[in-house]
Amino acid sequence: MVFYLDPTPMNNQIEPIEMVRKLSSIVFPSCLFSLAKDEIFPYEYFAYTILEEGIIYLHSIGLPESIIVDFTHPLPHCSPWYINASCSTTIDSAGQPIYFSIFTPLLAPTIFYMFSATVLPILFDDKKFSDFKQNPSSLRGIVQRFIDGVDASAIAYVDQGLAHAIRAGYRHLDLDFSDLQNCGDYFGCLLMHIGYHELGHAYISKFTRNDVPNPINDRALELIADLIATKWLFDRTVMGTPDTDEYRNLRGLNTYADTIMSNSLMSVRSQMALLILSSIAGAQLNSGTPTLAALRLHHTAGKVFQ
Ligand SMILES: [Zn+2]
Repeated sequence: MVFYLDPTPMNNQIEPIEMVRKLSSIVFPSCLFSLAKDEIFPYEYFAYTILEEGIIYLHSIGLPESIIVDFTHPLPHCSPWYINASCSTTIDSAGQPIYFSIFTPLLAPTIFYMFSATVLPILFDDKKFSDFKQNPSSLRGIVQRFIDGVDASAIAYVDQGLAHAIRAGYRHLDLDFSDLQNCGDYFGCLLMHIGYHELGHAYISKFTRNDVPNPINDRALELIADLIATKWLFDRTVMGTPDTDEYRNLRGLNTYADTIMSNSLMSVRSQMALLILSSIAGAQLNSGTPTLAALRLHHTAGKVFQ
């Protein structure tokens, strides 16, 4: 992995922040650890991305730097193979947030990874993106292959459970350890985008005192979370582009302008990737027909009283 979009080691190291008595945790299903490293990787990397990005942002806006990433918490009306994620805030008697929780359906990190390995190369690889522009209909077959992999996982989940479901998806798509190297950056970019959206909900909760009960306002909140995610992604990937020879050598590019352009393209393509993934999430709820109406199951920013 190259971590094109993580320039932190290059020139953007921040000062360590002491957060006294602040705790974060990750809840993994134990069966994950009977699997191979590349099969566990999507869960570890999802949690790592949420914590790495989230703690700093929560600190910067004065919210508690405590996050629970829980892959075992069931989401209402959500099957384990649904494409979804959720954020909730636990508040004290004064209505102040104590900590934030990020949940996913059981198979979601695996599905995000399978999407990154099958669909994202046509968006992020310049040569494949050029071919895709010449032949846009090629997307249909690539997306179908990804969906067939998700189906294989879902069937194995029903028959045998989570660990077998993860392996069945990998086998269907011929994924192995070498794919970590091939698509790790695409996966990281997608996770950053998904994570920023969920953290955007946490950010909104700072000034939204009550859950909003009507769909129009819910859609508005989702739009705001998307805008926050887009702004943070722009800050990270474009504004944070290091102006150093070391980074240019890593990227194989000659000038600062080239690296900014390349990172800008990745940021835009990440938006396209999320649009495709969101439409497939809609298809899971709409008898297989793609739609962007999956919002009705994407309930986030809920508040839990402690
Ligand atoms: Zn949302």
